[in-house]
Amino acid sequence: MKALVYTAPRKLEYQDWPDPELGPGDALVHIHAAAVCGSDLHGWLGHSRGRVPPLVLGHEMAGEVVEVRSAQAAVGPGTRVTVYPILGCGHCAYCSSGRDYLCPRRKVLGLQVAGGFAEYLKVPIANLNPIPAEVDFTRAALAESLACGLHMAGLVGQERGPLAILGAGPLGLMGLEAAHQLNFPNVAVVEINPHRSEIARKLGADLTVNPKEANALEELQRFFGEEGCAVIFDAAGFSVTRQLALRLVRPGGLIILAGLGEQETALDCVEIIRREIRLAGAFAYSRREFQKAVDWIVDGRLATADWISEAPLADGQRIFEELVKPDSTRIKVVLKP
Ligand SMILES: [Zn+2]
Ligand SMILES: [Zn+2]
Repeated sequence: MKALVYTAPRKLEYQDWPDPELGPGDALVHIHAAAVCGSDLHGWLGHSRGRVPPLVLGHEMAGEVVEVRSAQAAVGPGTRVTVYPILGCGHCAYCSSGRDYLCPRRKVLGLQVAGGFAEYLKVPIANLNPIPAEVDFTRAALAESLACGLHMAGLVGQERGPLAILGAGPLGLMGLEAAHQLNFPNVAVVEINPHRSEIARKLGADLTVNPKEANALEELQRFFGEEGCAVIFDAAGFSVTRQLALRLVRPGGLIILAGLGEQETALDCVEIIRREIRLAGAFAYSRREFQKAVDWIVDGRLATADWISEAPLADGQRIFEELVKPDSTRIKVVLKP
């Protein structure tokens, strides 16, 4: 089969690759759509410890089942699916409660094992989420990314208060979609790229601010007013955004760290203590959140149209080069094998 293989930092090659070999309980999926994630870009730049070349990247995919290795599987050839890409050990307390993403022995498709940037993918039958015929594969492939947004919003629990989203890439925009549907009031989005800010406004952001502008912090403080900013989703993950989050959040507020921009950041811990700021990491999503994302997509609750674009899988290298540019006008790209 053909696959888009990560062969060295900043290098993807579209080449022949061995066909997957199925074992008991596996399915073979013919991939029709595989979206590029910010974490794929992070890996491609050579910053991911988990992604070791040569590797087929991609963990946001949808396609059609062509074969299953099980006598009593609920899905069979011809079933249209999207894929929960996390492979837990299946035995620990996390896996038993549907939280495979926290399993200490987890593997992720496109990270430790071959992913979806290929014609075919091997995946455990239990990781297949069927989708109806009216949902196209490109849209179905967005379930993973939406699940990340739902997970960030889910970590807030029942609390509702003014929200700031730092970064309007796919993660920030999916966080915005989730926040909007889950009734977060007063949402401000902080983003450098004007094209992305415009999309955030279209998706319902009440304010967008360019942090490069001199009065950005005052503008945000004016927007949040006396009430202050209760929750922050850091969907960028750079020292500047993490430090901005700390300055912006109100006493007792919650900062959710999800962006992977930089590994380490110096933070004023005395400030965190004195104002009882809560910091939480957000990684991936549970099986339940993933299914919820699929349901939202099937129900048409996602207003994604104009920030998703498609490209042939064979053009992967060019697309990755384009996506890492700070002024890129593409936001989310779905590769088509
Ligand atoms: Zn992803
Ligand atoms: Zn486990």
